[in-house]
Amino acid sequence: MDFDLTDEQELIRETARKFTDEVVWERARENARRHHFDRDLVGLIADQGYLGAIVPQEYGGAGLDYLTYGIVVEEIGRGDSAMRTVISVQTSLVCSTLLKWGTEEQKRHYLPKLCTGEWLGCFGLTEPDTGSDAANQRTRARRTDDGWVINGAKMWISMGNHAKVALVFAQTDPELKHRGLACFLVDCDQPGFQPSEIHGKMGLHGSDTAAIALDDVHVPADAILGEVGDGFKVAMSALDSGRYSVAAGCVGICQGCVEESVSYAKEREQFGRPIGAFQLVQAMLADMKVRADASRLLVWRAGVLKDQGRPNTLETSIAKLYATESAVECANTAIQVHGGAGYVDDHPVERWFRDVRVTTLYEGTSQIQKLIIGRALTGLNALVGDEQLPEPVKAAAPA
Ligand SMILES: Cc1cc2nc3c(=O)[nH]c(=O)nc-3n(C[C@H](O)[C@H](O)[C@H](O)COP(=O)(O)OP(=O)(O)OC[C@H]3O[C@@H](n4cnc5c(N)ncnc54)[C@H](O)[C@@H]3O)c2cc1C
Repeated sequence: MDFDLTDEQELIRETARKFTDEVVWERARENARRHHFDRDLVGLIADQGYLGAIVPQEYGGAGLDYLTYGIVVEEIGRGDSAMRTVISVQTSLVCSTLLKWGTEEQKRHYLPKLCTGEWLGCFGLTEPDTGSDAANQRTRARRTDDGWVINGAKMWISMGNHAKVALVFAQTDPELKHRGLACFLVDCDQPGFQPSEIHGKMGLHGSDTAAIALDDVHVPADAILGEVGDGFKVAMSALDSGRYSVAAGCVGICQGCVEESVSYAKEREQFGRPIGAFQLVQAMLADMKVRADASRLLVWRAGVLKDQGRPNTLETSIAKLYATESAVECANTAIQVHGGAGYVDDHPVERWFRDVRVTTLYEGTSQIQKLIIGRALTGLNALVGDEQLPEPVKAAAPA
């Protein structure tokens, strides 16, 4: 086991760190204040090669491995969760899914423009009545002579107001349940594709989140990722990559909380000495440091497994669960270290505290991650309806 990064990885990390400190950091605060989705900053991030980081160079990407991608996402996540969300959605949910499930033609059509940021993509799984139970899609796709017509609604879709292409999950035949699901590549300029901005979010003010109405949206017959019936598998493979990216971003928040808190604790004086000299303050710093390091190691483990092409759903869920919950804890603790100063956005801890809260919700809540981990431990799937449980478990269930 070797925990040292290669020289190239160190260089990529330093570059991402410098870019975050010099370009992302200051704009993040202003964008959050103004509730502004900063397309220019997205362009600068694309210029760095971070939007298609794991996409092979032949399709316009940077061709990075997952471990290195995680290191980049950690740095951007430290600077701005709103921009980290752009990277996670574009790279992990959209590009990695196209890479895994797309035809050669689909890859050549979409990936280069997604990597340069000319086009943004969005991932339409969640619906007003369908969240954790993702297989229960209400959006319907009806076959026509020349393709499909989609009707329904999507909810909480990141970048939905700015995207050029949407991965839309829909049911083609309700009788088939999850075997009827399909993932459609929908051109967002199509008539009937109607996104609207969701206002009033607690955090991620610099990111775009949409509710999308789908009203007789026409899709060509070949605009499907995989086959009809693959939709659920497509969604789950996308989330394996997306959860990794969210977890890596949360390592960045934990790390940022440590750095900002240590720096503040050494400067701020009370009772005639730096607050960092008090044992109770050091305990808070230590708690954050342990969480940051443990989260990073869990993310790196998941990344290495991905790079080796080995199964990693369990390890990715563990990393997502631990890193997101840790980042929520760290942001809370970092505000405590800052005292009243942490309650305003002069310090990034205020924004981290608001931005991080969503990370234990999206891409599978913490409860869903625990059920994935519990399923791996027991072989029993708690994520299905009662009729699908094995007989002995049903018999043991309380009335
Ligand atoms: C800012 C933001 C951006 C988002 N971006 C996207 C996006 O780009 N694309 C997309 O498709 N979605 C996106 N989402 C949606 C997100 O993935 C969902 O909110 C999430 O999956 C949870 O679904 P829900 O909100 O419907 O909660 P629900 O599923 O209704 O869950 C509510 C509560 O019940 C718990 N619960 C549910 N089922 C179980 C169970 N079986 N056992 C135990 N507890 C359970 C949950 O853990 C949670 O605590 C985004 C959400 C937000 C807030």
